[in-house]
Amino acid sequence: MTIRREIDLPDPCLVVLVGPAGSGKSTLAGRHFGRSEILASDAFRARIGAGEADQAVSRTAFTVLHAALARRLARGLLTVVDATSVTIRPRRSLLERARAARLPAVAVVLALPVEDCLASDAGRPGRHVPPDVIRAQWRAMEESLAVPGRLIAEGFAAVHVLGSRAEIDALTIGRSPVELSRQRRDAARPRNP
Ligand code: ATP
Ligand code: MG
Repeated sequence: MTIRREIDLPDPCLVVLVGPAGSGKSTLAGRHFGRSEILASDAFRARIGAGEADQAVSRTAFTVLHAALARRLARGLLTVVDATSVTIRPRRSLLERARAARLPAVAVVLALPVEDCLASDAGRPGRHVPPDVIRAQWRAMEESLAVPGRLIAEGFAAVHVLGSRAEIDALTIGRSPVELSRQRRDAARPRNP
Protein backbone atom coordinates (compact mmCIF):
# COMPACT_ATOMS: atom_id res chain seq x y z
CA MET A 1 0.00 0.00 0.00
CA THR A 2 1.35 3.41 -0.92
CA ILE A 3 1.05 6.02 1.77
CA ARG A 4 0.08 9.47 0.58
CA ARG A 5 -0.14 12.38 2.86
CA GLU A 6 -0.88 15.93 1.76
CA ILE A 7 -0.99 19.08 3.78
CA ASP A 8 -2.33 22.27 2.30
CA LEU A 9 -1.18 25.37 4.13
CA PRO A 10 -2.80 28.77 3.97
CA ASP A 11 -0.04 31.16 2.88
CA PRO A 12 0.85 33.15 4.89
CA CYS A 13 0.46 31.30 8.16
CA LEU A 14 2.40 30.22 11.21
CA VAL A 15 3.43 26.56 11.18
CA VAL A 16 4.16 25.13 14.62
CA LEU A 17 6.03 21.82 14.57
CA VAL A 18 5.26 19.68 17.62
CA GLY A 19 7.39 16.70 18.59
CA PRO A 20 10.04 15.40 20.99
CA ALA A 21 13.75 15.62 20.31
CA GLY A 22 14.65 13.10 17.63
CA SER A 23 11.17 13.04 16.08
CA GLY A 24 12.49 14.69 12.92
CA LYS A 25 11.20 18.28 13.09
CA SER A 26 14.33 19.89 11.66
CA THR A 27 14.57 17.25 8.94
CA LEU A 28 10.95 17.81 7.92
CA ALA A 29 11.37 21.59 8.02
CA GLY A 30 14.50 21.40 5.86
CA ARG A 31 12.73 19.26 3.27
CA HIS A 32 9.65 21.42 2.84
CA PHE A 33 10.52 25.01 3.71
CA GLY A 34 13.07 27.63 2.76
CA ARG A 35 15.89 28.31 5.19
CA SER A 36 14.71 31.82 5.94
CA GLU A 37 11.19 30.55 6.68
CA ILE A 38 12.39 28.38 9.56
CA LEU A 39 12.97 29.75 13.05
CA ALA A 40 14.66 26.96 15.05
CA SER A 41 15.16 27.25 18.79
CA ASP A 42 18.46 25.35 18.69
CA ALA A 43 19.84 27.68 16.01
CA PHE A 44 19.01 30.68 18.21
CA ARG A 45 20.65 28.95 21.22
CA ALA A 46 23.77 28.40 19.10
CA ARG A 47 23.79 32.05 18.02
CA ILE A 48 23.42 33.43 21.51
CA GLY A 49 25.11 30.79 23.63
CA ALA A 50 27.77 28.12 23.51
CA GLY A 51 25.96 25.80 21.10
CA GLU A 52 22.65 24.27 20.03
CA ALA A 53 22.23 22.48 23.35
CA ASP A 54 23.13 25.42 25.63
CA GLN A 55 20.04 25.43 27.88
CA ALA A 56 21.42 28.36 29.91
CA VAL A 57 20.43 30.71 27.08
CA SER A 58 17.14 29.01 26.23
CA ARG A 59 14.99 31.86 27.57
CA THR A 60 16.90 34.53 25.68
CA ALA A 61 16.89 32.35 22.57
CA PHE A 62 13.09 32.14 22.69
CA THR A 63 12.81 35.90 23.27
CA VAL A 64 14.85 36.55 20.14
CA LEU A 65 12.98 33.86 18.20
CA HIS A 66 9.68 35.51 19.17
CA ALA A 67 10.93 38.92 18.09
CA ALA A 68 11.88 37.52 14.67
CA LEU A 69 8.56 35.67 14.46
CA ALA A 70 6.53 38.78 15.26
CA ARG A 71 8.34 40.77 12.56
CA ARG A 72 7.93 38.07 9.93
CA LEU A 73 4.24 37.49 10.64
CA ALA A 74 3.54 41.24 10.68
CA ARG A 75 4.98 41.33 7.16
CA GLY A 76 2.76 38.47 6.08
CA LEU A 77 5.55 35.91 5.70
CA LEU A 78 4.87 32.22 6.22
CA THR A 79 7.02 31.09 9.13
CA VAL A 80 7.81 27.69 10.65
CA VAL A 81 8.77 27.41 14.31
CA ASP A 82 11.06 24.42 14.84
CA ALA A 83 11.01 23.79 18.58
CA THR A 84 9.53 20.90 20.58
CA SER A 85 6.31 22.81 21.52
CA VAL A 86 5.02 19.68 23.27
CA THR A 87 3.34 21.58 26.12
CA ILE A 88 0.61 24.20 26.07
CA ARG A 89 2.72 27.11 27.35
CA PRO A 90 5.09 27.57 24.43
CA ARG A 91 2.23 26.84 22.02
CA ARG A 92 0.08 29.49 23.64
CA SER A 93 2.74 32.17 23.25
CA LEU A 94 3.26 31.22 19.59
CA LEU A 95 -0.50 31.31 18.99
CA GLU A 96 -0.58 34.80 20.48
CA ARG A 97 1.92 35.94 17.85
CA ALA A 98 -0.24 34.56 15.05
CA ARG A 99 -3.34 36.14 16.55
CA ALA A 100 -1.60 39.51 16.86
CA ALA A 101 -0.72 39.32 13.16
CA ARG A 102 -4.22 38.04 12.33
CA LEU A 103 -2.79 34.98 10.62
CA PRO A 104 -3.86 31.34 11.02
CA ALA A 105 -1.63 28.90 12.90
CA VAL A 106 -1.25 25.30 11.78
CA ALA A 107 0.17 22.52 13.96
CA VAL A 108 2.17 19.67 12.43
CA VAL A 109 2.64 16.96 15.05
CA LEU A 110 5.37 14.35 14.65
CA ALA A 111 3.72 11.66 16.75
CA LEU A 112 6.17 8.82 16.24
CA PRO A 113 6.58 5.93 18.69
CA VAL A 114 8.96 6.99 21.47
CA GLU A 115 11.38 4.21 20.47
CA ASP A 116 11.83 5.86 17.05
CA CYS A 117 12.64 9.21 18.67
CA LEU A 118 15.14 7.58 21.05
CA ALA A 119 16.79 5.63 18.22
CA SER A 120 16.98 8.70 15.95
CA ASP A 121 18.55 10.78 18.70
CA ALA A 122 21.07 8.05 19.51
CA GLY A 123 21.92 7.63 15.83
CA ARG A 124 22.50 11.25 14.92
CA PRO A 125 25.93 12.80 14.84
CA GLY A 126 26.78 15.50 17.38
CA ARG A 127 24.15 16.66 19.83
CA HIS A 128 22.22 14.15 21.97
CA VAL A 129 19.29 14.63 24.30
CA PRO A 130 19.04 12.48 27.45
CA PRO A 131 16.54 9.60 26.98
CA ASP A 132 14.51 10.59 30.06
CA VAL A 133 14.06 14.09 28.59
CA ILE A 134 12.86 12.59 25.29
CA ARG A 135 10.45 10.30 27.15
CA ALA A 136 9.04 13.26 29.13
CA GLN A 137 8.62 15.29 25.92
CA TRP A 138 6.93 12.34 24.25
CA ARG A 139 4.47 11.94 27.15
CA ALA A 140 3.66 15.66 26.98
CA MET A 141 3.00 15.35 23.24
CA GLU A 142 0.76 12.32 23.81
CA GLU A 143 -1.20 14.27 26.45
CA SER A 144 -1.66 17.08 23.95
CA LEU A 145 -3.20 14.57 21.53
CA ALA A 146 -5.12 12.48 24.07
CA VAL A 147 -8.20 14.67 24.01
CA PRO A 148 -9.50 15.00 20.43
CA GLY A 149 -9.72 18.60 19.35
CA ARG A 150 -7.51 19.90 22.12
CA LEU A 151 -5.06 21.65 19.81
CA ILE A 152 -7.93 23.13 17.81
CA ALA A 153 -9.42 24.37 21.09
CA GLU A 154 -6.05 25.98 21.88
CA GLY A 155 -6.45 28.06 18.71
CA PHE A 156 -4.89 26.17 15.82
CA ALA A 157 -6.80 26.49 12.56
CA ALA A 158 -5.67 23.00 11.51
CA VAL A 159 -3.80 20.12 13.12
CA HIS A 160 -1.92 17.51 11.09
CA VAL A 161 -0.72 14.44 12.97
CA LEU A 162 2.01 12.31 11.35
CA GLY A 163 2.32 8.92 13.01
CA SER A 164 5.26 7.23 11.28
CA ARG A 165 8.45 7.88 9.34
CA ALA A 166 6.72 6.42 6.27
CA GLU A 167 3.95 8.99 6.60
CA ILE A 168 6.53 11.77 7.07
CA ASP A 169 8.52 10.61 4.06
CA ALA A 170 5.37 10.50 1.89
CA LEU A 171 4.40 14.03 2.86
CA THR A 172 3.74 16.72 0.32
CA ILE A 173 3.03 20.25 1.43
CA GLY A 174 1.09 22.64 -0.77
CA ARG A 175 0.33 26.29 -0.21
CA SER A 176 -2.88 28.16 -0.93
CA PRO A 177 -2.35 31.89 -1.13
CA VAL A 178 -4.64 33.78 1.20
CA GLU A 179 -5.59 37.31 0.28
CA LEU A 180 -4.44 39.64 3.06
CA SER A 181 -6.88 42.30 4.15
CA ARG A 182 -6.00 45.82 3.06
CA GLN A 183 -5.16 46.76 6.62
CA ARG A 184 -2.77 43.82 6.84
CA ARG A 185 -1.19 44.64 3.48
CA ASP A 186 -0.48 48.16 4.70
CA ALA A 187 1.09 46.79 7.88
CA ALA A 188 3.27 44.43 5.84
CA ARG A 189 4.49 47.08 3.39
CA PRO A 190 8.17 47.92 3.86
CA ARG A 191 8.72 51.34 5.39
CA ASN A 192 11.67 53.65 5.09
CA PRO A 193 13.68 53.76 8.31
P1 ATP B 1 15.56 18.11 18.15
O1 ATP B 1 14.28 18.50 18.84
O2 ATP B 1 16.53 17.51 19.11
O3 ATP B 1 16.15 19.23 17.34
P2 ATP B 1 14.42 16.97 15.74
O4 ATP B 1 12.98 16.67 16.00
O5 ATP B 1 14.72 18.23 15.01
O6 ATP B 1 15.21 16.90 17.12
P3 ATP B 1 15.99 15.74 13.64
O7 ATP B 1 17.28 16.36 14.01
O8 ATP B 1 15.27 16.25 12.44
O9 ATP B 1 15.03 15.74 14.92
O10 ATP B 1 16.16 14.17 13.42
C1 ATP B 1 16.87 13.37 14.35
C2 ATP B 1 17.60 12.27 13.62
O11 ATP B 1 16.66 11.45 12.93
C3 ATP B 1 18.57 12.79 12.54
O12 ATP B 1 19.74 12.01 12.56
C4 ATP B 1 17.82 12.58 11.26
O13 ATP B 1 18.71 12.33 10.20
C5 ATP B 1 16.92 11.38 11.55
N1 ATP B 1 15.66 11.53 10.82
C6 ATP B 1 14.77 12.53 10.98
N2 ATP B 1 13.74 12.41 10.14
C7 ATP B 1 13.97 11.28 9.43
C8 ATP B 1 13.27 10.58 8.41
N3 ATP B 1 12.10 11.04 7.94
N4 ATP B 1 13.80 9.44 7.93
C9 ATP B 1 14.97 8.97 8.39
N5 ATP B 1 15.69 9.58 9.36
C10 ATP B 1 15.20 10.71 9.87
MG1 MG C 1 15.85 19.93 15.53
